[in-house]
Amino acid sequence: MASPSRANLQLKRQLGAAVRTGRRARWEASFDSSKLSFLPDAVIKPRQVADVGKVLALANRFRVPVTVRGRGTTLTGAAVPLRGGWVVDLTGLRRIRIDAETGMAFAQAGATNAAIHAAAEAKGWFYPPDPSSNEYCTIGGNIACNAGGMHGGKYGVTRDYVLALKGFLPTGEWVQWGTATKKFSAGFNLRDLWIGSEGLLGVVTDAVLKLIPLPPVRWTLLTAFADEVTALRAARALFARRVQPAICEFLDRYSVQCAERATGKQVFAGQAGRPVILIELAGSAHEVGDQKREVLAWARSHAAAFREARSRAAAEQLWAVRRKCSGAMFELGDAKLNEDIAIPMRQYERFARFLERLRRESRLPIPTFGHLADGNLHVNIMYHRENPAECRAAECAVQRLMETVVSLGGAISGEHGIGLAKTPFLRLQHNPAQVRAMLAVKHALDPKGILNPGKMFEVFQVWKHPRVDVHLPWDH
Ligand SMILES: Cc1cc2nc3c(=O)[nH]c(=O)nc-3n(C[C@H](O)[C@H](O)[C@H](O)COP(=O)(O)OP(=O)(O)OC[C@H]3O[C@@H](n4cnc5c(N)ncnc54)[C@H](O)[C@@H]3O)c2cc1C
Repeated sequence: MASPSRANLQLKRQLGAAVRTGRRARWEASFDSSKLSFLPDAVIKPRQVADVGKVLALANRFRVPVTVRGRGTTLTGAAVPLRGGWVVDLTGLRRIRIDAETGMAFAQAGATNAAIHAAAEAKGWFYPPDPSSNEYCTIGGNIACNAGGMHGGKYGVTRDYVLALKGFLPTGEWVQWGTATKKFSAGFNLRDLWIGSEGLLGVVTDAVLKLIPLPPVRWTLLTAFADEVTALRAARALFARRVQPAICEFLDRYSVQCAERATGKQVFAGQAGRPVILIELAGSAHEVGDQKREVLAWARSHAAAFREARSRAAAEQLWAVRRKCSGAMFELGDAKLNEDIAIPMRQYERFARFLERLRRESRLPIPTFGHLADGNLHVNIMYHRENPAECRAAECAVQRLMETVVSLGGAISGEHGIGLAKTPFLRLQHNPAQVRAMLAVKHALDPKGILNPGKMFEVFQVWKHPRVDVHLPWDH
């Protein structure tokens, strides 16, 4: 292996001012939202797409590990440079163009999700995937993690909106998967292989995204329930009525309390201490009118209390409070195992009862919230890092959680991906043949193991590693 300094020298010769080797730049690129930190040797902020290919070609020549980075909002450690080497920060490539006639967005990888939303909406179009980190996270990161969000149940996730991708193989060769057409059946679908590949199989530089017409009417209802099991049972009854809410967010009573204390705003006034389901319908006036009648009939027979949002502004405020949920949990502990599992709907009540047992037996706070229309729940196991008994209880609890999720036919991640945090559980989800098939793909595309080494397949126990004490813009 060549010395990193020779590789760095070549890097600077070819990419000039795009390369940063100062301590501060390297420190800032050393962690993501997981707050695990590993220092890279250099950070490259490409000014043009071709720079990405040059970095990868050099990395292959000198066998330098490369970690691609959007905004670093991932909670799994997927963007930390575990093996050092080079970090490629794509936030400088952020052009967006909307084709208002055909309903497509042409976005560079570093464009933020919120910027794509705003650009599309300005032309009467809608890009539904909306992770709660939307103001910060990039479309490149969304594609790499197959990000979801509150709209997943009705509209789907990032994968459902990607028509084509351009970028570089780990070897530095330029490729394009798909075109700006809504159909494409020409050859293996490697576009979908890149989606959700967490920066291990290639670097996305450009995406063509499908847009849908902006729904003209929205209607929001707050519902409160006696307890969590009743709430989850009620959700199934709602879907059985053929209602497809654009948003159907569940907050257990602990999440409600955290969000209210963190924001100073009430989720559902007069319903303190109760779990809630927040529902939003979207579509044409006719469609929303029909579904609204069904939802109100459902609320009357299942909810302890319900109320319509008074105005669009009140509804938006509700969603803003909901988006603060994740950060708000830190009043219950200084450490969190944040698990974004997915559960088959038929197992909702069994899962709610399991969570009650897990809370009781672990003696840890485990606030849970999430997207009921697609079964994607965020289970937050909160503990104190300095308390060994709580650390052990958290480790045990996460293991039991994952085993239960898989035994119920669910997924260990519904939207965040594996990164480092979920590596101890990958083999619960996938049998040896499945893992071997994934590794074979990785080796075929990245024979020298350049891109994001150490992630997804090697077991890394996050709870045993120190975190940096840093406040990120999206932290509460
Ligand atoms: C407060 C908060 C709320 C969140 N809410 C949600 C949510 O509702 N739904 C959800 O799905 N996620 C959510 N997340 C997780 C996170 O925001 C998403 O996974 C997001 O897609 C990451 O985007 P990013 O630009 O920050 O990527 P990064 O964190 O920088 O990178 C994530 C992964 O993508 C890879 N990557 C980044 N860019 C590229 C590229 N151009 N080409 C190839 N690989 C690349 C990286 O190597 C890494 O493996 C949340 C996070 C926070 C902090």
